Amino acid sequence: MSYIKTIGFDADDTLWHNERFFGEAQDTLKDLLREYADKETVSKAVLEMQRQNVKSLGYGIKSFTIAMMQVALDLSDGKLSANAMREVIDIGKNMMSHPVDFIDGVTNILDDLSKSYELVLITKGDLIDQERKVAISDVRKWFKHIEIVSEKRTNTYKNIFSRFGNMNESVMVGNSIKSDAVPAVQAGAWGIHVPYPITWELEVAEPMINHECYFEAKSLSHAAEIIKSI
Ligand SMILES: [Mg+2]
Repeated sequence: MSYIKTIGFDADDTLWHNERFFGEAQDTLKDLLREYADKETVSKAVLEMQRQNVKSLGYGIKSFTIAMMQVALDLSDGKLSANAMREVIDIGKNMMSHPVDFIDGVTNILDDLSKSYELVLITKGDLIDQERKVAISDVRKWFKHIEIVSEKRTNTYKNIFSRFGNMNESVMVGNSIKSDAVPAVQAGAWGIHVPYPITWELEVAEPMINHECYFEAKSLSHAAEIIKSI
């Protein structure tokens, strides 16, 4: 048994695939807008709109859908037909029913870790979508605590982990350096970054180098080994 008592896990692109559904949705949008803009222009416009909207609209599918609608209007100079706009809305609505597809090996790792540690799921994004994924994935068998938050800041981790014990007995594991590993370390906990093949540009950040509480892991099983060694 290691020094660690509580493990916080991010969900999207840490436990299950997520970013690829956003990529597929954008491919459909690019197809709809092909007479107005090339693919790269659409990608850049969506990212920029999300960047502008994130403070007021937050993360997840609904804010992404609004960004796609704004981009569709902007790039078509308002000429996109009402029916095509309906299709843009449907792209977003269809995302709300995408399946939960666990990343390979995750369920065995959670089986193992849940026997010795308190597991907390800490996820941001659209509330309805996150609740839906928690329900259909059956993660409550491993996680007694589920925290769906609007943003992951240092204080978010202080507030959550302080309920379970000392900050230095907690570790956060996730695919975002910016939202998972770094703010947890800044809160006084440990942070482990487990990269996913695609990183949403708004989550890109530099890893912390030479900080004894920050780790880069090759995989979730590597993260589990690190936790056991702390
Ligand atoms: Mg994530």
